[in-house]
Amino acid sequence: MDIKKVDLIVVGGGILGTFHALHALKKGLKVLQIEKDNFPVGSTVRNFGQVVPSGMADRWFDYAVKGLEIYQEIQSKTDIGIRNNGSIYIASDNDEVQIIHELSQHYQTKAYDHEIWTKEMVLKKYPDLRSDYIKEAIVFKQELSAEPEFMVRKIHEYLANQYPNFSLLYDTAIIGCEEIGDQVILHSSRNEKFMADQVIICNGYEFKILFKELFDDSGLQISKLQMMKTKPLQNIKLPGNILTGLTIRRYESFEEYCPSFHTIQLPERYQELKANGIHILFKQGIDGSIIVGDSHEYSKGNQIDELGFSINSHINRLMIDEANRILPLSEDLISSSWAGFYSQHKNQILEIDVTDRIHIRTGIGGKGMTASAGYALESINKII
Ligand SMILES: Cc1cc2nc3c(=O)[nH]c(=O)nc-3n(C[C@H](O)[C@H](O)[C@H](O)COP(=O)(O)OP(=O)(O)OC[C@H]3O[C@@H](n4cnc5c(N)ncnc54)[C@H](O)[C@@H]3O)c2cc1C
Repeated sequence: MDIKKVDLIVVGGGILGTFHALHALKKGLKVLQIEKDNFPVGSTVRNFGQVVPSGMADRWFDYAVKGLEIYQEIQSKTDIGIRNNGSIYIASDNDEVQIIHELSQHYQTKAYDHEIWTKEMVLKKYPDLRSDYIKEAIVFKQELSAEPEFMVRKIHEYLANQYPNFSLLYDTAIIGCEEIGDQVILHSSRNEKFMADQVIICNGYEFKILFKELFDDSGLQISKLQMMKTKPLQNIKLPGNILTGLTIRRYESFEEYCPSFHTIQLPERYQELKANGIHILFKQGIDGSIIVGDSHEYSKGNQIDELGFSINSHINRLMIDEANRILPLSEDLISSSWAGFYSQHKNQILEIDVTDRIHIRTGIGGKGMTASAGYALESINKII
């Protein structure tokens, strides 16, 4: 295949760009995907890998449900590390119990399968959790977990094996993009030139290379999240996505559909956690290690530098202490800690059509591992 001229170029090798590539390939297009780093190292590889439609609201819930189907379709053809272990949100006090029941009422109207579990049911499935934290839980057995460290590269391999019309370039930064006649010409930092009928730019939180001026006042924000991972713990079994009380007090679905969300009081012990945007999630990987997080700090989209590169050990300690109320966990079990970043927008996504042929899609926020597959399907149908 001549990679110099294709139907569609997708700039960005993260999950959002990758699902745009997949849906365009399914339409029979010749697609070239280009990633500036040696392999993707952005939001897509630094997250929990929780695929949780239950946390989303409005059209993002629908994209996310579609995403479950798309992930499972790929997993049925090749192993990309998707597991169907479900999600559980554990309520730790009466207010949180009230809210999960309100969410249950909402999901009954949407016919989205779920169960309310008693403390005993939770402990039967998760005997390692601390009994005194648990009041009740809401469970979504159909939801999925992914392995963020390698999944997107596995999907790239799958696309390369499945679709002769697909090519992928890593280590290629696109530094120029202009429409000339009825083509778009892209330039790389190595002076390579690529041509396509259409270009979709899924640049994640990189706003300094292409179309910088469009991002300056775009309403984009960047969030920095601190994350930790334990060493592999073979004696603990935490199948699925574990979400806890502070998540119930944070996620969009609860905010949107639970009347009590805005009236419940914040207990004193949560004040400092909330001030640092902390809620506690756990996701155990295939190797037995458990990802624990997260916290949130924010900057304007073009000022990521202000968020710094260091890990704040006080924030990590706050997270470990709260995590330890839920699951016996101590600092010596943590083997690594990192900062993840994502871009987000007040409209839930930033869509800019620079011309009829050049399209920017970014700012999917904290929901990209869950909703990108379904969102990108609609996006490709609109663009192509
Ligand atoms: C800590 C953390 C936890 C999260 N947990 C979850 C979760 O459990 N569930 C969930 O659904 N979501 C989660 N998210 C959100 C999710 O990870 C993101 O929404 C998603 O990964 C965004 O994907 P993306 O493709 O837009 O961005 P990215 O993954 O950042 O990809 C953008 C890519 O574009 C490339 N690029 C940019 N500019 C250029 C250029 N000029 N030339 C070439 N390449 C370029 C970049 O190098 C990068 O690889 C989490 C995010 C973080 C940070």
